[in-house]
Amino acid sequence: MADEKETCKNPVCGCAPHDGKYCSASCEGTGDTIEIDCDCGHEECTGNF
Ligand SMILES: [Zn+2]
Ligand SMILES: [Zn+2]
Repeated sequence: MADEKETCKNPVCGCAPHDGKYCSASCEGTGDTIEIDCDCGHEECTGNF
């Protein structure tokens, strides 16, 4: 419970959040839209194709 890993609020993105919510402006820009891939540009991102 308390040890839940913090990840970006963009569901497809697995990066650590930069400012408590999103890892990048790209993810923040998705808002309520569900994207199928992530454009944050982080190499470690699990949603970046
Ligand atoms: Zn990402
Ligand atoms: Zn992200």
